[in-house]
Amino acid sequence: MSFDSLGLLAELRRAVAEQGYTEPTPVQTQAIPAILAGRDIMAGAQTGTGKTAGFTLPMLQRLHASPVPARGRTIRALVLTPTRELAAQVAESVRTYGKHLPLRSAVVFGGVKINPQIDALRRGVDVLVATPGRLLDHVGQRTLDLSKVEILVLDEADRMLDMGFIHDIRKILALLPKARQNLLFSATFPDEIKRLADSLLDSPALIEVARRNAPAERVAQVIHPVDRERKRELLSHLIGSQNWRQVLVFTRTKHGANRLAEQLARDGIGAAAIHGNKSQGARTRALSDFKQGEVRVLVATDIAARGIDIDQLPHVVNFELPHVPEDYVHRIGRTGRAGNDGAALSLVCVDEHGLLRDIERLLKREIPRIPVAGFEPDPSIRAEPILNGRGRPGPGGQGHGRRSPPSQGTARPGRTGHATPRPQAKGSQHAAGGRAAGGSGRGTGPRRPG
Ligand code: AMP
Repeated sequence: MSFDSLGLLAELRRAVAEQGYTEPTPVQTQAIPAILAGRDIMAGAQTGTGKTAGFTLPMLQRLHASPVPARGRTIRALVLTPTRELAAQVAESVRTYGKHLPLRSAVVFGGVKINPQIDALRRGVDVLVATPGRLLDHVGQRTLDLSKVEILVLDEADRMLDMGFIHDIRKILALLPKARQNLLFSATFPDEIKRLADSLLDSPALIEVARRNAPAERVAQVIHPVDRERKRELLSHLIGSQNWRQVLVFTRTKHGANRLAEQLARDGIGAAAIHGNKSQGARTRALSDFKQGEVRVLVATDIAARGIDIDQLPHVVNFELPHVPEDYVHRIGRTGRAGNDGAALSLVCVDEHGLLRDIERLLKREIPRIPVAGFEPDPSIRAEPILNGRGRPGPGGQGHGRRSPPSQGTARPGRTGHATPRPQAKGSQHAAGGRAAGGSGRGTGPRRPG
């Protein structure tokens, strides 16, 4: 199958060829003809499947086929994403794939000045990529008019719901014209997404490219058992001895991300941290330094890493296992993308055996344990409860070590729970990706530490 057989315009095929793509990915093969035919779609596709080009290419083609003179403040296509990072990356894709077509695009998200966004909207925009909160800010200030939207894309819809955006999304839907094309992309389909899809989509084409929670096929996963206090030493050892040039490392907390980046820097390994407490400028800078190879290690929290798109990222390390097993799947999806092989390593200490069990139950398989010589765990060390960064025991983990178990009233997730809201220090939630990206602080949906 080649891009030529999908019915795409020469200008779009040229842009694709310039990216070096020779054949469409499965989601592109299915989504592009359906979208070109004007159908709604409901696609189960995770990041890394090529879904962005899958909706962007046909969307641009449809807009180009029926040109409407751009009028200030109105837009023709709206792409909603959960996080600023994903919004920035989708906007970049829209520019890349649309560079030979005369369509204009812009991106709006919170955490940055609103005035340049207002200027861009005034000049006329065909495709707007946005996070929900900031989008509603623009609507409220009457700098944006959604009444002429022809195509709506909800990208990573499950994450938007996890992050408490459902009310914002419903408000936005109420502002759109009834006759429009709707494209819904989601990695998972919990009931809330199914309800949203029912109310949104008109006889959608159903596209399923990866089994739910199926980790990227080409990712080699391994567990390195190690003592809690020796994880940093082991990480430095692995990076140095294997000469890794680009590694994305996950921690559970923002504080842990900062501390680890500083410690690695002290070990002489260039590292930057990216999380929700950093300004948008600092996050963008860290990501671009990492992409350009100026820092070898990017330490990220789950929320901040959402949507990070780096071609051919060879190594992902779970410095700490996530509390929510689905996050493990999202994390390792950062490697082995679009046909490249990748490796996902988890440094697991005795406290995390419960979390590991949950992950393996979700994956329905065991991940091989390979101790690293010189770093074998000391069997006399007992499990301790996992602290959530604010001195409280977090959900999951062993929780029955030397310290007392979590007291009653500590939030513990249901095992099937997805994004369990965890207590958040006042003020610290402000830039936790997602809704905070809107900067308006509306609503009370669950948030996750970023
Ligand atoms: P996405 O799932 O949209 O985040 O895309 C994941 C990655 O795949 C991005 O780095 C794209 O640049 C890349 N990609 C998208 N389409 C193709 C393709 N047809 N062939 C190779 N790589 C692709």
